Amino acid sequence: MTQECIFCKIAAKEVPVSVIYEDKDIIAFPDMTPAAPVHVLIIPKKHIANLLEIAPDDISLMGHVLATIPKIADQLGLAKDGFRLVVNTKENGGQTVNHLHWHMLGGKIMTWPPG
Ligand code: 5GP
Ligand code: ZN
Repeated sequence: MTQECIFCKIAAKEVPVSVIYEDKDIIAFPDMTPAAPVHVLIIPKKHIANLLEIAPDDISLMGHVLATIPKIADQLGLAKDGFRLVVNTKENGGQTVNHLHWHMLGGKIMTWPPG
């Protein structure tokens, strides 16, 4: 837990969110500024700053996150038509919250390339 990290606070239930999915290691909740009709953030409860900070010990956690994606997509009604997963990483990637998270975006045809 990092003191000033908003996603750690969400994971610790210090800041309430509408929980889309939760288990002992991860939590998913709606993005407060949705960029698509469906925009959910999926985070490990453990504080990992970004993709570059994943340690060997985190590998099974990362596998667990990815293995849970179909369940969350199904629950959100995104499995049939698909969705986009995004992990913004550091400044050039547009990362604004330094706690690893996956954006799940769907409910419309997403454009490519991104800006
Ligand atoms: P990033 O820009 O780091 O890839 O994504 C951070 C995302 O977190 C942004 O889309 C932003 O809207 C969302 N966000 C930031 N603070 C909060 C919060 O307190 N609650 C929720 N639900 N989303 C947040
Ligand atoms: Zn954190």
